[in-house]
Order: sequence, then structure tokens, then C-alpha cells
Amino acid sequence: MLVVQKFGGTSVGDLDRIQNVANIVKKYADEGNQVVVVVSAMAGETNKLLDFANHFTKTPPQREVDLLVSSGERVTSALLSIALQAMGKDAIALTGRQAGIKTTSDHTKARIMDIDPSKMKKHLDEGKIVIIAGFQGINENGDVTTLGRGGSDLTAVAIAGALNADKCEIYTDVDGIYTTDPRIEPKAKKIDMISYDEMLELASLGAKVMQSRSVELAKKLNVDIEVKSSFKPEIKGTLITKETPDMEKVLVSGIALDKNQARVSIFGVEDRPGISAEIFGKLADKNINVDMIVQNVGKDNKANLTFTVPQTELELTKEVLKEYENKSESIEYDDSIAKVSVVGVGMKSHSGVAATAFKTLADENINILMISTSEIKISMVIDEKYGELAVRALHKAYQLDK
Ligand code: ADP
Ligand code: ASP
Ligand code: MG
Repeated sequence: MLVVQKFGGTSVGDLDRIQNVANIVKKYADEGNQVVVVVSAMAGETNKLLDFANHFTKTPPQREVDLLVSSGERVTSALLSIALQAMGKDAIALTGRQAGIKTTSDHTKARIMDIDPSKMKKHLDEGKIVIIAGFQGINENGDVTTLGRGGSDLTAVAIAGALNADKCEIYTDVDGIYTTDPRIEPKAKKIDMISYDEMLELASLGAKVMQSRSVELAKKLNVDIEVKSSFKPEIKGTLITKETPDMEKVLVSGIALDKNQARVSIFGVEDRPGISAEIFGKLADKNINVDMIVQNVGKDNKANLTFTVPQTELELTKEVLKEYENKSESIEYDDSIAKVSVVGVGMKSHSGVAATAFKTLADENINILMISTSEIKISMVIDEKYGELAVRALHKAYQLDK
């Protein structure tokens, strides 16, 4: 069997944890499996490196940022290989480039274009455990790129796809996907099986346990994923797959919280055809991820436009919108918001799910600033300080603790 095993930041957080990973990997290899391991940087390392870069300027050059942050995963890949070789296993550590991962040029959020698996295959055929530095690839100029925060998940899924692996295991610090972040609600329940679609919503709405782009790719390539704990590897985790047996029965599968968004409001902008296309076109040109757009009905030829962007893209957003300071009455930025979302495929065929969410927040005296819905989710923007409270109240309202 060929298995891809990915270990996240806490799982390789110090030398003891790396030894623990080496033990898990060795056990698999000793059972006769071929193993490809993808590692993250040690917990906190990527943030530390980003802080270093931001010390000099608010907008450090993205090419150099990528070169800098990609080093975190190189450290852990080399250390894991050293640990395994010290235990008598044949292993080799590879950077993203050496593993054949080619990406677009969009520094800090590059997309994987192609993987040339020949080098990995050669090493596997020679009986080696192949260890890959996650989160990184190389663009057509030969520059190092990174795949967005949490991007080692994407590396693992992409490699599982490219090698046609039998299994893709994501080892982290929780033993599976829960009905909400167990750090926020200890009563959260572990889910045995979850569909790609639901996991994709949870992940893109803030459940950082899986990077959303990795789930998107898993769905596209039909790679089944098991999320499990490196602290308790013997415990069965959560299977992320195409369809689950009780999909239609479950109304709400989980609650997600995203505190990394910021709100932008442009008041009194000229109300004419093409104004939205113009503003959002300019933001798109800078690769800014706009979400949850609300435009009110115009009055006196003026309109108000409110939307959210990731906090990390707020500075760039301000730069882009500078020219609208004179073309509007005012622009307001607020990074103390939270987006709380209720997700469930079962919502498609039930009514009243949204009403329950609004009533629950009202009962807690939480004001809703923005709302957006799709077939399988309801998202509400609220004041950041009520984020956790809202999660717990909604978790209870939909009886997810039962
Ligand atoms: P890693 O470093 O292994 O990639 P992350 O910190 O990125 O791990 O993701 C794991 C964390 O995700 C957990 O510690 C947990 O707090 C958080 N999390 C958020 N939502 C959920 C959820 N629905 N189920 C499980 N964990 C969740
Ligand atoms: N180290 C990177 C991050 O912190 C990638 C990852 O952990 O998956 O975002
Ligand atoms: Mg992660």
C-alpha cells in the first residue's frame, strides 16, 4: 500500500514530537507500506518568520516572504529524515521543488499547476521513505512560492493525487473533525464521516483544521482523507469523502468561526451602472479575496457598499481604495468582526434553519451586521467579541452536543 501522511505544526512542534512522528512513520514502513510524508513547520514558526518580515515594512516583497517562510518546512523535513535514518530507516527529505511541485507565480498563495512525481517514485522504488517539505513549490522563474496558510494540507492531497496513493492521512492535534472547534466548545462531537462539500464549507468559513483549498482539490481528484491525531494515532479519525450514508438526515453538521476577516464600507459612492464592476475589478486585479458583499438600494444617486476581505489583505485593500476617498462620502474599515457560520447539506431540503440561527443570536443579544446564505450554509457577521459565545449558542440550538 502507498500512503501519504501529513503532520501539522503541533505534531512536529519540537524534537520529541518529531521523534514521535518518526515512530509513527517507521511503524507504517515496517508493515511493508510505501510512505510519503509531508511536514509543516514547527508550530508558531511561520508566524515568527512573517513577523520578522513585517518588522521592516507593512508590505514586504512577496517573493522574499516566500523564500523566508518556506524555510520552516525545510527544517522539519530534514530533521524527520535524520531521525528516521538514526533509527535505521532509509529516508530522504525533499523540498517542494525537488518533489517536482510546479506552481503559478502568485507569491504567498500560489496554485499547484503540475506535479512531476518521477523523483518521488524513484526514491520509493529504491525502498526509501520520502519526506517532503509542505506548503511550497516553484514557479516558472525558478522562484520558491508558497501555497497559502495551512498549505501543507494541499501539498499532501496533491501528492496523494499525483502518486495515486491508497490513503491520505492528515495528522493533527485533534483526533478528527468535530461539530465545531473543540477549543471553543468542549461539548463538540467528533464526526465519523463528512462529505467534501460540507468540509469545504466548514474549512472556507474558518475551521482551520483543513485548508479549504486542499479539500477542494481532494474533491476534484477524489482523494479520500482521514483526519487523525498524531498524539493518539491508534484512534480512528474522521473520513472526508464523497458521500456519507446519513447525509440527508443530518440538518446541520457543524458551526465555524472566522475571526480573520475585516469589514469595508464605502458610504455615498456614485450609484451608476458599472461602479461595482469597477471597484471589485480593481480589488480582483490585486488578487484580494472579497467575500460577503452587501449593496443597499441607492438613494439620491448615492449607494453604500459593504464587503469583507481577509485581515491580511486589509492594507492592500486600503491602498486600492485610496482613490475612492474623494469619490465617496467616507470609507470605514473594521477588523474587529467575526463571521460565524452554520453548515449542513440537509439544509437544502429543510426550512426554518436560518430563522433558528437569527433567533439564537437575538436571544443572546448579539447584533447581526451582515448575512449571507447558500444552499448549505448561513453566515453572519457579528462583533468579534461575541464570536465564541455565538458558536456555543448555535451549537446548542441545533443540538449538536446530543
Ligand atoms: P495543524 O498544525 O496540524 O495543521 P491546525 O492548527 O491547522 O493544525 O488545525 C487544527 C486545529 O483546528 C485544532 O486544534 C482545532 O482547534 C481547530 N479546529 C477548528 N475547527 C475545528 C473542527 N470543526 N474540528 C476539529 N478541529 C477544529
Ligand atoms: N506552516 C504553514 C502555515 O503555518 C503551512 C502549514 O502549516 O500547513 O500556514
Ligand atoms: Mg493546518
